[in-house]
Amino acid sequence: MTIHNKQGMQERTRLDARQEARTEPMARPVEPDFPDFGDSDDRHGCDWDESICDETATHYTHCICGDPDCESDHIQYYCDRHYALTLALRLDHLRECKGYEHDEPCEDNRVVTLMHISDFGPLAA
Ligand SMILES: [Zn+2]
Ligand SMILES: [Zn+2]
Ligand SMILES: [Zn+2]
Repeated sequence: MTIHNKQGMQERTRLDARQEARTEPMARPVEPDFPDFGDSDDRHGCDWDESICDETATHYTHCICGDPDCESDHIQYYCDRHYALTLALRLDHLRECKGYEHDEPCEDNRVVTLMHISDFGPLAA
């Protein structure tokens, strides 16, 4: 068996595991937000929802939710391309977001920003 074939098989195993992980949150009557960390040590699929993306996620974004009772972790996973796109779209939106009451930086405005995006970066390998 060539090295190439071996990698192909590992890829497939990973894919199966990911599909299983994906069906799990559906069983819970929670907003379709996203999985717990800790659900498995498997890689996450890309959460891009404008189109189907089968890439393995390499980056994540996180936002703060205004709801103190919300149990979602608000973490979204993206592949390289969709991570870049998501950040670009998010920043674009922030430029015009109606959530900001005024232009000066202040605590209120900071919270508005964090509710859109509070953390982001590469996933630990
Ligand atoms: Zn929430
Ligand atoms: Zn993607
Ligand atoms: Zn907004």
